[in-house]
Amino acid sequence: MLDKVSALIDIRNVCRSFPKGSGEELLVLENVDLTIRSGEIVGLLGRSGSGKSTLLRIIAGLVKPSSGQASCRGQTIVVPPNGVAMVFQSFALFPWLTVLQNVELGLEALGIDAAERRKRALSAIDLIGLDGFESAYPKELSGGMRQRVGFARALVVHPDLLLMDEPFSALDVLTAETLRTDLIDLWIEGRLPIKSVLMVTHNIEEAVLMCDRILVFSSNPGRVAAEIKVEMTHPRNRLDPHFRQLVDSIYARMTQRAEPKAPSTEGIPGSGIGLALHHVSSNVLSGLIETLAGAPYHGHADLPVIASQLQLEADDILHLGESLQLLRFAHLSEGDLMLTDAGKRFANLETDSRKRLFAEHLVAFVPVMGLIRRVLDERPSHTAPAARFRNELEDYMSEEYADETLKTVVSWGRYAELFAYDEQSETFSLENPGESA
Ligand code: ADP
Ligand code: MG
Repeated sequence: MLDKVSALIDIRNVCRSFPKGSGEELLVLENVDLTIRSGEIVGLLGRSGSGKSTLLRIIAGLVKPSSGQASCRGQTIVVPPNGVAMVFQSFALFPWLTVLQNVELGLEALGIDAAERRKRALSAIDLIGLDGFESAYPKELSGGMRQRVGFARALVVHPDLLLMDEPFSALDVLTAETLRTDLIDLWIEGRLPIKSVLMVTHNIEEAVLMCDRILVFSSNPGRVAAEIKVEMTHPRNRLDPHFRQLVDSIYARMTQRAEPKAPSTEGIPGSGIGLALHHVSSNVLSGLIETLAGAPYHGHADLPVIASQLQLEADDILHLGESLQLLRFAHLSEGDLMLTDAGKRFANLETDSRKRLFAEHLVAFVPVMGLIRRVLDERPSHTAPAARFRNELEDYMSEEYADETLKTVVSWGRYAELFAYDEQSETFSLENPGESA
């Protein structure tokens, strides 16, 4: 039974949509339920664009739900609730303030007197490993140290709930790991002046390393697709078979939805013009096809294994896998990536033949590519402004996604020599109109 009193945060049936360019609404969160209690670290794991930051902002009182209930200790959240502090992905420090001043800033709004502010700021700075940097300015600090300032500024208010929005994703691999470990050490030693943590991440390993409970978010719209309890004691070892097994099973869950039911076109989600394309370079795609084709994979790889070999995060390898799946060069299923016959053929071709095969697949399987090529072929000038296609894309997706999709279209189309694109005039054209297919 749900205990409203012990629940620090209670999210019931929350939906949120945003207006799209076309005047329609984009549903970002659908019927999200979430409870956070004292004493736990909860992870919100999902792909980019699945609405994680939006949910975090709802809890922080910065965005209102379109419908449903969001409450903090039984009170509906209408303004930023007391006892909730946030650490952002980018460091969001004031460059003209010192470390100490940046940290103290968190307390000014609370009306705490100057002496107490100073005392608490110094103790947060000390706790988080910034001792000696009190009078440094942000520009004098490394990325990792800046993010420590971000943590100190959130901790100094002694929040019940610390919200973290991908706080390690702007840091290099080693720095991120040190900071994660330091935080978990402080947490298990009970030295953090907080009761619970809700952290957003698109990094599966990070979630398994840090969280007691992981909510796996599905995309379009964002929904809680699964809840996973992590019952390993800290400090956790990434090489522990339990750890690997859990990472593996989460990968499998996250690729379940992308799996075509039959080896036909129908299983590919949203396969019309409205399909948003992630910007993935064609060089990286062909490199991945080659890697997959070669030893030790021979056309079939476990996603976590290949992600760690290529030093990619879950989100990146999933984008790559989905792009290959869309292009019918590979097939994603249950956390595995398998080359199709076309993918194997691609791996064995010379550059020019690869480009031709890529072009064929683009026109056949990426609807917006087919559309652009058709429009260029049909127009006497064999040119068309990007706006012609951007408008159409924006009927289906946010401006941000339409931009990314166009960027992808341009780089894939250039590689395949399907068309040329002039950045200055934002115009597509056929390179060799005489040869148009
Ligand atoms: P995530 O953090 O999981 O990457 P976000 O919550 O940032 O996802 O965004 C989810 C979707 O909502 C995206 O399509 C984004 O473009 C859209 N979105 C977020 N905030 C706004 C806003 N203020 N106005 C319009 N669209 C938004
Ligand atoms: Mg986000």
